[in-house]
Amino acid sequence: MTFDLTNPVFSDAEKAREYLESLHWPDGAVCPHCNLMNNTKVGGKTARPGLYMCNACRKQFTVTVGTIFEDSKIPLNKWLLAFRLINGGKKGISANEIKRHLGISYKSAWFMMHRIREAMQDDGSPLGGPGKVVESDEAIVGGFKRKRLSGKIAPKKKIVTLVERGGSARSFHITNITHKNVRHALVTSAHRSSVLMTDDARFYNNIGREFAEHHTTLHSNREFAKAGGIHSNTAENFFSIFKRGLVGTYHHMSAAHLHRYLVEFDFRYNTRKVSDAERTEEALKGARGKRLTYRQPSSLAA
Ligand SMILES: [Zn+2]
Repeated sequence: MTFDLTNPVFSDAEKAREYLESLHWPDGAVCPHCNLMNNTKVGGKTARPGLYMCNACRKQFTVTVGTIFEDSKIPLNKWLLAFRLINGGKKGISANEIKRHLGISYKSAWFMMHRIREAMQDDGSPLGGPGKVVESDEAIVGGFKRKRLSGKIAPKKKIVTLVERGGSARSFHITNITHKNVRHALVTSAHRSSVLMTDDARFYNNIGREFAEHHTTLHSNREFAKAGGIHSNTAENFFSIFKRGLVGTYHHMSAAHLHRYLVEFDFRYNTRKVSDAERTEEALKGARGKRLTYRQPSSLAA
């Protein structure tokens, strides 16, 4: 579909619901409780539009049941607009901008954005495989002075990113850059049949033996790329995009939520070859079946 900002799905809650139905139920309504298509549209003047009843379990449902929108008081068209805006650029969008665009409170905007990041969470399938290259690299973010906030220095945060060359990225917030933490990220997220490429940090020596091959570059000698494609520049490129987002859009990411921002930047990286509209649809498809890690507090329900 064309998905520019004048599309009525962003201004009309009914149109938004019909669009979400077409995206999540391309073959017709599916009961979220028993996963069957055997259901009846609930008609009549008193029935909510978009209400269905499952003929198997007799429960009623709409397209938002079982999605991140389920218990939200924010109209669905505003949700779609927020999805479109966060997927519209390379650097993300701040909760303040979402607040202004949607005419909602800052707190609601902030919660919405973290829910959207849940929709962006990948399925956890392993990176790499036989003949594929997985780069692993670490970065440190934060630690600069926050002048407006009493000049205190925000604590530095450490990240490890794994990137399958030509494929997807997956990033982790780790407490410290150690053998144990980096190894855990690698062995839970990358096929051991992969070719591992890293810098010359010593803790990679042992980790590297667990993979089909391991090649290193000597970052300490500024030897960034050897002949034969031995480098971890892809992971470094990911970090440079992430750091631009941190400086340009989000300014500060608390340690408690850093993993959510990493999901967002992983998702944006993993959908880098598609249009903003296609990226938005991809994120919206992920809005179903995600385990909500927290619920919007009732104080925001109004
Ligand atoms: Zn059912």
